[in-house]
Amino acid sequence: MNNLRHDTPKPPESPGWTELHRHLDVSLRLSTLLELAQRRGLEGQSTTLKAFKRRIQLVEPMESLAQVLSKFTLFQEVLSRPEDLERVAREAAHDCYQEGCRRVELRFSPSFICEDGSLSWEEALDAFDRGLQEALGELPGLEAGLLLIASRDYGPESAARTAELYLKNLHRVVGLDLAGSESDFPARRFAEAFRPVLLEKRRAPELVHITIHAGEAAGPQSVWEALELLGAERIGHGIRAFEDPLLVEHLRKEDICLEMCPTSNWITRAVDSFGEHPLKLALETGVPACINTDDPAIFGVTLGDEVRISREHIGLSPAQVRQSFEHAARASFLGGTDPTG
Ligand SMILES: [Zn+2]
Repeated sequence: MNNLRHDTPKPPESPGWTELHRHLDVSLRLSTLLELAQRRGLEGQSTTLKAFKRRIQLVEPMESLAQVLSKFTLFQEVLSRPEDLERVAREAAHDCYQEGCRRVELRFSPSFICEDGSLSWEEALDAFDRGLQEALGELPGLEAGLLLIASRDYGPESAARTAELYLKNLHRVVGLDLAGSESDFPARRFAEAFRPVLLEKRRAPELVHITIHAGEAAGPQSVWEALELLGAERIGHGIRAFEDPLLVEHLRKEDICLEMCPTSNWITRAVDSFGEHPLKLALETGVPACINTDDPAIFGVTLGDEVRISREHIGLSPAQVRQSFEHAARASFLGGTDPTG
């Protein structure tokens, strides 16, 4: 399947794409990741980018979760200095822009980034925000915003702290997410942590936004909990929602956008093949869904690759691709108008 990511045609001039689901902390250019790893002595000076890529990128379905987690550890280890986080955010915004995006939401987990304690959560947010603001000054017509992720695996207390950081930074963070091991850490355990956010959302619905990773590794119940207990306005992935007709109808009626990430779902074996991916089914049944990269550096994809895969392997028509980006623009927490016109 390596051929999927070769010869990707350049996206048409400024298609005005919107991307809602992209993890900033694992979106590093691999050249940057290698440079930072070498500087910290985590990689030999003689390692070539080609050899590094071969080792780091996941281009085929994984054998185990441990295989993926071992890749994430390196990202975590190199992101320990504010200037490096700043650079990573700036480069990620430039990469999105080059890929044809004019509106992008970038998310990161403070508990993941700051686990070793060398940076405070506020320092990490400040640094990513500085990098993003620099990029916005350099890239005409780009809109971009940060989301904070509460990581399920770090537990409810850490999630409550993430929610608190979010509420303190509503002027510069556009939304809150929950990600991680869905089956081991169900959404109901985080209801208490999200309560202050839901209260604030009642007061200022235009300012407070919630998206939840759900229905990726766990079934429809996980999506129901994300919606009913955590107030999700959008769902990250949501591919297993289609196992429950009542849920599908609810998503359609309530206009809940599913942030779908085809390559990620194939690599993590959430789907067995692109042919089984429910993106097309979602669009055909009137459930808003959009196309995203998730973790582009690890999976070696661009948004253009995902669009091509959606067309060639999932069977979307050009009109359905356009429609998915219209859904993304409408569901964006950045607000404003649809850049696709
Ligand atoms: Zn994700």
